Formats: sequence, structure tokens, C-alpha cells
Amino acid sequence: MLSHPEIAELTALRRRLHQFAELSGSEVKAAGIIEEYLAGCNPDKIITGLGGHGLAVVFDGNLPGPVVLFRAELDALPIQELNSFDYKSLSKDISHKCGHDGHMAILCGLGSVIAKQRPFSGKAILLFQSDEENGKGAARILADQRFTTLNPNIIFALHNFPGYPEGQIVVKHGLMFCASRGMRIILKGKTSHAAYPENGLSPQRAMCRILDAFETLSLKNNCEDEFSMLTIVFARLGEEAFGVTPGFAEIGLTLRAADNNVLRELSAQAEQIVRDSSRAHQITYDIIYQDEFAATINDEYACKFIEDAALASGLPVNFITLPFRASEDFGNFTTRYEGAIFGLGAGEDHPQLHRPDYDFPDMLIEKGVLILFNIFRLCQEYWSK
Ligand SMILES: [Zn+2]
Ligand SMILES: [Zn+2]
Repeated sequence: MLSHPEIAELTALRRRLHQFAELSGSEVKAAGIIEEYLAGCNPDKIITGLGGHGLAVVFDGNLPGPVVLFRAELDALPIQELNSFDYKSLSKDISHKCGHDGHMAILCGLGSVIAKQRPFSGKAILLFQSDEENGKGAARILADQRFTTLNPNIIFALHNFPGYPEGQIVVKHGLMFCASRGMRIILKGKTSHAAYPENGLSPQRAMCRILDAFETLSLKNNCEDEFSMLTIVFARLGEEAFGVTPGFAEIGLTLRAADNNVLRELSAQAEQIVRDSSRAHQITYDIIYQDEFAATINDEYACKFIEDAALASGLPVNFITLPFRASEDFGNFTTRYEGAIFGLGAGEDHPQLHRPDYDFPDMLIEKGVLILFNIFRLCQEYWSK
């Protein structure tokens, strides 16, 4: 399907994207590199600036048929790379530690294969979204009128998964990734001279009480339907001034749950703890939510296309029984469209995602292109029956 020079070209493309890593919301160079590459594949339409710096590249078939969308992500992470290879990130303290550079290269490879074997029916849409890591990008794309008109029948995405054998297809019916949201709690008291703490109102005791009470929500339920957990990610109290008592505290945490309703319930319980503790110590508080992700639900018939395409590609399939606790912005797409996301094993001993020594394994590019092309081919055959 891909010749050696084509694989070498995609590998070079992946490494170029790796060098120009950009944070969520500022993926200008990546979008430009992708647009330039795919313009060379003569698509029927390229939509740029979609929900930020996103782009959609459309290949039309001759006959009516399924509109099949494949998604990749444009953003990198605020992590300083520990690797020393010659294509290491040129962006200070920013690098591709989730493998989105590899996912982009795979979608570009799919574009070059489709350019040689144009769809006989339907359409293939290659969607590159910005802002995946902060959970903002999918909602922005869904709100963009130009995206709505594309009207996909079915949507797919893949993510590389370290910890699984290289090339293994990891998939699950129903809940694949949990819903999650970040909660920022700001506790407001009053400072005083450190020699006269009785003149101030320190949020210290309320903060300790909240942190203690949150332990009861840390892993409330581990079974699939009711799963929920609360993880503290940071806490701050006062300033580094030895003459001043704290007048301010901040706690950051992530709430996760099996579905959006369980997540709402967990949020209400956490809010209740903040309300009671603040009241008990006469301080005021604010709660801000951010980084919100909907649960990613895989449709069974979309999983069937993935399974059949894996077999056709000679890749082993692993149907897992428990969902991942992590979240995926793709969940916003699966609440609107039918589809599924699957994992592509990156090697059992490969460094985990978001670690400073992680790098996308280049040998996954060919496997990724192969399975996505087979999914597209099977969708066309199924719709033409
Ligand atoms: Zn990530
Ligand atoms: Zn990712």
C-alpha cells in the first residue's frame, strides 16, 4: 500500500512535526505543514481555521455513499523533552509527548493512499483538530458552521497506546474513555501580621478539612458503570512572606467518572464538602471548572469495522473489558456522531504518554495508515450493499 520511499517521506514528515511542537491553541506551523502536504494529494476541498487552527481535508467519491471522518490532533504538551535524537523538539519546554505528531503523519499517509485510490463512493474526511489536550478543540469544531455541513455518517480516531504490544489494536464496545473535568477551588480569608494571627482569617484549617474529606471521594467506585474518582493535582496556601499569615488558598483537582451524569453527581458532592468546610471556618470560596471532557462511547457497529479492518490488515485485536480512566476530546464527537476510537499498541515497554522520554514509534505509521484505509474501504462496501 505504501512504498519504502513513501514510508520514508511520512517518517520525515512526522519528525518535522515533532521538531515544531506547539501548545494547544497555537498549532499554526503544524496546520501549515499538514495543509502543504495534503494539498499535494489533490483533495476536493480543504477547510482551514476550523475551530481554531484545525483543518478538514475532503476526498469525494463518484457515487453517493458513506461520509467517513478520521480525526487526528495537532497539539503538543508543556513538557521539556529528555531525548537527544537529531529531530528533538526545537520549542523550549514544549514537545510531542502524546504522539499526536505520529497521528498526524498517519492521517497524511491515509490522504496520500486515497489520492492514488480515489473513493468509488461517499467521502473521506481527514480532520485535524487543535486543542485536544485541554478538551476545548472538539467543541469549537462542532460549533463551526462549516463543519456541520460536512455531516459525517461515521467517525473514527486512533491513539497510540504504550504498554500494549506494538501494532496490537485495542478496542472496547461502549465506554472507552471516562468523562472528566478540572475543578479549581479558591478559598478567601484575610491576611494579618504573622505575630498576630488572631487578627486575620487564614483558610488553612478549611483547606486541610477539604483535602481530608476529599479522600472519601478519591476512588469511590471502581466498577464500570458507577466508576468515579477525585485526584488532587495541586494545592497552595498563602505567600512566601514570613511576616504574613495566609489570606488565600487554592486547590486543583480532577474529577473522573464513567458517564456525564455520574460526573455531575461527584461534582455536587465535592462542592458540598467545600461549602460545609468554608462555612465552618467563616471563609468565602469560588469554584471554577475547566478542561471538561465528555465520556467517549464507542458504537458497537463502528467497533466491528475496526475489528474487520484489523483482520484485513494482519493486526491482532484485543477487546478490553475495562475502560480507560483517562479522557479524550473525541468524546465530544461521539456524543454527536456514531463512531469509535481505538488504540494502536506502541510496545509493552515503550515510555508512557506524557513522559519526558516518550517518542512516537515510527513503525506504527504504516500500520496506522493500513488499518484506517481498510476501515474506509469496508465502510464503502457496507454502504453499497
Ligand atoms: Zn495527551
Ligand atoms: Zn493524545
